[in-house]
Amino acid sequence: MDILSLPYDALCRKFAALHGKLGKGVFHADAVFQKLYRDGVFDPESLPEFVANLPLARSAKQHFSFALPPLAGKQGDGDTFKFLLRLHDGLESETVVIPMRKYKTLCVSSQVGCKMGCRFCETARMGFVRHLTAGEIVAQVMVARHVLREPVENIVFMGMGEPMDNFDAVADAIRILTDQRGLAIAAKNIAVSTVGHVTGIERLAKLVGADKSSGRLQRLHLAVSLNAPNDEIRAAIMPVNGLWSMSELKDALLRWPLNHPDDFILAEYVLLEGVNDAPEHALMLAEYLRGLNACVNLIPYNPGLDGTYVRPSPERVTEFFKTLSDAGQYCRIRGTKGDNAMAACGQLGNRALSRSLRQAQGPVLEVT
Ligand code: SF4
Repeated sequence: MDILSLPYDALCRKFAALHGKLGKGVFHADAVFQKLYRDGVFDPESLPEFVANLPLARSAKQHFSFALPPLAGKQGDGDTFKFLLRLHDGLESETVVIPMRKYKTLCVSSQVGCKMGCRFCETARMGFVRHLTAGEIVAQVMVARHVLREPVENIVFMGMGEPMDNFDAVADAIRILTDQRGLAIAAKNIAVSTVGHVTGIERLAKLVGADKSSGRLQRLHLAVSLNAPNDEIRAAIMPVNGLWSMSELKDALLRWPLNHPDDFILAEYVLLEGVNDAPEHALMLAEYLRGLNACVNLIPYNPGLDGTYVRPSPERVTEFFKTLSDAGQYCRIRGTKGDNAMAACGQLGNRALSRSLRQAQGPVLEVT
């Protein structure tokens, strides 16, 4: 049993079920959980709580496995770099470390590949390979903190994959990351980015609650990859728009719980020259977002390798920004980090695997 896949309560239940006849449960599971996430160590025999009961410690070691996946590569572009982890079946996950002023943000993957097929995205070219388990998602954070010694305090689910398409594993990973007895990452420092998967947004909203005593997350952030001002353009670049229209998406966004005056929904908008970057698109976008507490993150396109799309000129980006701002929409231009290392937004994806999979299947949009 991969211990990194078990949130605290699940670990306690498993521990009690396995060792209950010895009268052991929460007390020992709690000690294991804290040591594991705070120090990156799973060695029950070394814990004072187990000193009087070494058979129990050995039994725990037999039933639970802990092995961080080995580093399979690291590609840097100054302070921003991505690292690859070799998974048990030979596949690789990709994670990006992004420096902030005082700490680091980690951009984690939730799947290997992706089935959403966004036309401007490098990951989409791989097609869908498989979901990551909760443990494989958490392992990315553990490697960053305990192996690479990076001061990670922010997590964004913006790496490979659509998090809502792997909802249960992502939800368990969030429970583990935010647990105060372990990694203790504040929910307000976590953002889940979705292509606009309405069912997933509604499920995720149920995990968020204003009341602390409810045990729900108080301030989880939602980012939505919008990228178009109307259905016509969005459907041309994002097949998901055929499943949920922009109006259905807006209804779901209006229901998203914003529990703090500082909170807003992040609307990501990748600017593609000649596709969605005209001033009239900015005006349409402002109209679409009216009534939503949203900030638009303008992302000048990071070119992939095939040259289908082009990054607009800085003047064009500034014009779009100004038109949107003047229309009353809060927005900002995101500085591009990591594009030389293919670690920037929309650039993750294993190229060799991508080529072989494309020949075999090609990306298919099929949402669960
Ligand atoms: S942009 Fe996100 S959802 Fe779209 S194909 Fe890429 S990884 Fe998948």
